[in-house]
Amino acid sequence: MFDGNNMKVLEIYSPQVDDTDKVEVEGIIKQNKVKECNWLDNGVRITFHEYFIPYSIIKIKNLLYILVEYFNQKYPDNIPQCQACGIQKEAEVYFIGNASKYTCADCLKKIEKDINNKYREYNQLPTNYFSGFIGALIFAIPGVIVTIITFVFLGKLAAVSSLLYIVLGIKGYKVFKGKITPFGAFIVIIVGLIMIGVGIITAYSVLIFKLLKTIDMDKLIQIINMPEVKKELWTNIILSYITSGFFIIFLLFQMMKEWRFLKKIHKARKI
Ligand SMILES: [Zn+2]
Repeated sequence: MFDGNNMKVLEIYSPQVDDTDKVEVEGIIKQNKVKECNWLDNGVRITFHEYFIPYSIIKIKNLLYILVEYFNQKYPDNIPQCQACGIQKEAEVYFIGNASKYTCADCLKKIEKDINNKYREYNQLPTNYFSGFIGALIFAIPGVIVTIITFVFLGKLAAVSSLLYIVLGIKGYKVFKGKITPFGAFIVIIVGLIMIGVGIITAYSVLIFKLLKTIDMDKLIQIINMPEVKKELWTNIILSYITSGFFIIFLLFQMMKEWRFLKKIHKARKI
């Protein structure tokens, strides 16, 4: 069915399952050291948990082979049914949406129509880039606060705050209904980069006010414009950009994956 979120899920559709089948199949599953299986109306769902390393595809294939053999021997006269309507007529395996399905031509048309409607709805969504931008900006504010606190009280610029800007930025972008597109990802990154700079400059300002024991804007500008201070400030901003770079690329990739998934979901592919 799918592979992701620390698990692989296999669903086997069988003609029917009676109590002996359940005992037999659970025995086979246990022999293969798989812990989770759930019964469906017309089959079984097996979950392979992955804690540190991916579960071997070969092991899954072997288990599938054993179970198919079991059902094949028990119900030799069975003709496969369409998974959607359950009618025994000519069907084929298609990859539709995000899963494979054994469907007849009529059901395939219906499923494709549903997916197409969803896809059209997605395309008709307003882009909302501006409100997404504002959302990302507002949600990134706690990142600035973390930067100020760690810098003023611990004397360190925490790399974790740049991570916060992007994570919260994406959240804010989505809450404010920004559309998931490559341009949306670009907006979140730009907001992140702006906020990293804003965070560092604000943190420095707070520290300077603390040392001055007064809030004096003229003095602040004077101090920040001193060549040594300016150099240190820029060095810190650039270092933060470098440390967050890897993470930004990773998140950009995630957002693009979500976008690509929405883009191609409507096309059924015969397996
Ligand atoms: Zn059907």
